[in-house]
Amino acid sequence: MKHEIIIVWFRRDLRVLDNPAFHAAAAQAKILPIYIFDQDLKSEHAIGDGSKWWLHHSLQSLQGSLDGSLRCYIGDAVKILPKLAKEYKVTAVHFNKSYDSVEMKRDHAVELELQKSDIEVKMFDESLLFSPSDILKKDGTPYKVFTPFYRECLKGPEPRIPLPKPRNIEFFTTKVDKHSIESLQLLEDNSVENRFEKHWKPGELSAHKRLQSFIKNGLENYAQGRDFPALKNVSRLSAHIHFGEISAHQIWHEVKQNGHEYANKKNISCLLKELGWREFSYYVLYHNPTMYHKNLQEKFDRFAWRYSKKDLLAWQTGMTGYPIVDASMRELFTTGYMHNRMRMVVASFLVKNLMIDWRTGAQWFWQLLVDADLASNSFNWQWVAGCGYDAAPYFRIFNPITQAKKFDPAGEYIAQFVPELSKLPSKYIAAPWLAPEQVLKKAGIEMGVDYPMPIIDLKESRDRALGSFKALKK
Ligand SMILES: Cc1cc2nc3c(=O)[nH]c(=O)nc-3n(C[C@H](O)[C@H](O)[C@H](O)COP(=O)(O)OP(=O)(O)OC[C@H]3O[C@@H](n4cnc5c(N)ncnc54)[C@H](O)[C@@H]3O)c2cc1C
Repeated sequence: MKHEIIIVWFRRDLRVLDNPAFHAAAAQAKILPIYIFDQDLKSEHAIGDGSKWWLHHSLQSLQGSLDGSLRCYIGDAVKILPKLAKEYKVTAVHFNKSYDSVEMKRDHAVELELQKSDIEVKMFDESLLFSPSDILKKDGTPYKVFTPFYRECLKGPEPRIPLPKPRNIEFFTTKVDKHSIESLQLLEDNSVENRFEKHWKPGELSAHKRLQSFIKNGLENYAQGRDFPALKNVSRLSAHIHFGEISAHQIWHEVKQNGHEYANKKNISCLLKELGWREFSYYVLYHNPTMYHKNLQEKFDRFAWRYSKKDLLAWQTGMTGYPIVDASMRELFTTGYMHNRMRMVVASFLVKNLMIDWRTGAQWFWQLLVDADLASNSFNWQWVAGCGYDAAPYFRIFNPITQAKKFDPAGEYIAQFVPELSKLPSKYIAAPWLAPEQVLKKAGIEMGVDYPMPIIDLKESRDRALGSFKALKK
């Protein structure tokens, strides 16, 4: 029987396996597990409906693993934690470190406040494989290019081995009715429930099942298949990773140890490298805390973005007249997810063809994605827009017709999310306005009525974007 009580503050580490803060607390004390929904955190970046939906269900799953002892609060963690610590006479507060710049600021304030009240604070490293402060160039400055960054990561020690579930866990149980998950009202006025529940099962157990299924069925052809949205070669683990239902360490070691049974070295290395891109996104955010709203390349501050409400709405609702863009935007709306290559295609279309500011696009993703992540979202938007580090050069403008023909050659992905085009022969599905009249008629499509004509000419908009980019250099 333990006498001490330690608060374990769960955040984006909603799991009991490989959870250093939880593990250390369980070894010495009774655990009072809490979750705080910091609504004001990130102000304009308050989490969107997709994330709220996932979070609600993920907390429910965690509640099951914690024997119903998780207590949930709404408000400012800086005020709530010291109050709870005093009320329950706890000896320490444990939590896992965040490398999200906005959360880091809040965590520092929490730490100071608890120390003022003589409460011990213990922070643990769990969310990243490689600590961003350790990986620096020879001159002591941070890397700006992925390949040498990742090479440097691989030179160091292997990421730590995942921790098992702690033994002899004792919970400090109090009445939780006032502090239930429902009290957070994450599903209040949240319209995504009916759409998203068909596609996902949040929670730790489900994350592990998904990883196993991916290793058995997707990893074998990952390096090539990951570019084809109709194939089942990507892991779809991103939301599970974002909410910490599974750690990057668990994936790293599981794939390295057991991946060989199903896939060769090339595919395994490719998957590990993608985890490396996640590390790099956090690394760049850590060294540039304002990356989520400021261009990494300052010259883009002078870029003449356009704003057109009509074009933005067409993009958001999947009505641009370019089927691969529309399928992707509708995938996002219907499922809260979008395939990686398609994220690049729609982002390029918004910032280059429509010349709308990348932050507007990032905000829409933020509202709907179940994996919406401050580091990965802003890093990748800046990458596509050309204003980030190691970014796609501005003149690299994805052509949505070529991309569709190359990566959705049979038009299966388009047909799934733009069903009005599903009867068109695959030859025409990427650019339906080019189909002969009788082919359209047979497929039951009247252009401009059943499906929109393209909202913008690709060549003209490309030239316009390149012109604006050239003007930046002057
Ligand atoms: C414009 C844009 C916005 C994006 N926004 C987000 C976001 O908000 N949250 C998010 O998690 N990812 C984001 N990504 C990165 C990437 O698209 C997703 O991580 C990936 O599609 C998730 O699917 P998956 O789990 O099947 O990936 P897999 O291909 O199975 O990859 C495994 C894991 O590696 C990581 N990963 C893969 N690619 C990237 C990448 N380019 N950058 C960072 N991490 C990566 C993810 O954690 C992913 O779950 C964005 C990409 C673009 C181009």
